[in-house]
Amino acid sequence: MTHPFLDLAPLSAARFASIEDRVARLLGTEQDVVIMQGEALLPLESAIRGTAGPGTTALNVITGPYGQTFGDWLRDCGATVVDLAVPYHTAVTAEQVREAFAAHPEIDFVSLVHAEAATGNTNPVGEIGEVARERGALFYLDAVASVGAEPVLPDAWGVDLCVIGAQKAMGGPAGVSAVSVSERAWARMAANPRAPRRSYLSLLDWKERWTDAGRRALPHAPAQLEMLALEACLERIESVGAEAVMARHRSAAAATRAGVRALGGGLEPYVHDDREAAPVATTLRTPPHITASELVARALETDPSLPLAAGGGALAKEMVRVNHYGPAATRETVDACLTALSSALTALGTGTDLRSALEAGATVWP
Ligand SMILES: *Cc1c(COP(=O)(O)O)cnc(C)c1O
Repeated sequence: MTHPFLDLAPLSAARFASIEDRVARLLGTEQDVVIMQGEALLPLESAIRGTAGPGTTALNVITGPYGQTFGDWLRDCGATVVDLAVPYHTAVTAEQVREAFAAHPEIDFVSLVHAEAATGNTNPVGEIGEVARERGALFYLDAVASVGAEPVLPDAWGVDLCVIGAQKAMGGPAGVSAVSVSERAWARMAANPRAPRRSYLSLLDWKERWTDAGRRALPHAPAQLEMLALEACLERIESVGAEAVMARHRSAAAATRAGVRALGGGLEPYVHDDREAAPVATTLRTPPHITASELVARALETDPSLPLAAGGGALAKEMVRVNHYGPAATRETVDACLTALSSALTALGTGTDLRSALEAGATVWP
């Protein structure tokens, strides 16, 4: 008997290339797409180390914890970093980015996270891309949490390095990820003496040994199971349509926000403005007398499989995350989360109106 995971024929170069092409189609991009054999932090770090160095001045937009990490990598590469941190209850605006360029005209690199699952906000990438283009800066984007939940269009938005992972809204595996690389970004890497070469972090190695070599022979053994899972996940998105997958996430976020507003009990959407709220996940602010991690622990007592979590670090006091992405972007899951949060608030002595919450949420679904 052959085992479905173990006794597999090797993944061919042609199949690997076809999976890259499918990712390119999903992103509507003509740029080179490199699928990297690791979790999304691999291309995120590779892209920064490949393009940033002591001559770089980077505008690092911080709208959550990933922006912090990218700033640390940029500094480690020797870049001068201008941090633009915005409160987690909002998104950054193109105007703020424009002001940063006015104050630091030497900026030649912009680092941005599209949507942050950890803080629940989403940023206006197209408008910021316009500013980056006007100023000739290289534009680096973490679209791991947005892809599949909302449009991600690197070519239309002028993104030079667009990193995605399949484990959030795409409902796919976590062990492989991808980056689209513009001609400008390749040129920066080629000109960067510090860009990793002969290294697992090297995008230039992939360009030289794989992309430019006609994608005929893989440089090393691929993560076969994850590649097959990525292919299956892309096929599933194509079969139902990317727009339908995104619509499911938009509805899940809207239903969670409407439901929580009607629920009462002091719980409210953490991100104030609906337009700045990410479709991938909804964050909630707990009332002052209730600790978010305690509320989540209570809510999970009834059903530990619900996609509820407290915020990371200091946010564990005041932020609840409803991770309604991938298979959890459904009415059933959102209703179950509202119900569990209502029970937990009641157990902690705060009254809620669950019926209104479920009714408010229901109006949102098609
Ligand atoms: C989830 C996520 C990643 C990937 O990191 P993991 O914590 O390993 O899943 C990267 N960037 C953003 C913005 C994310 O939300």
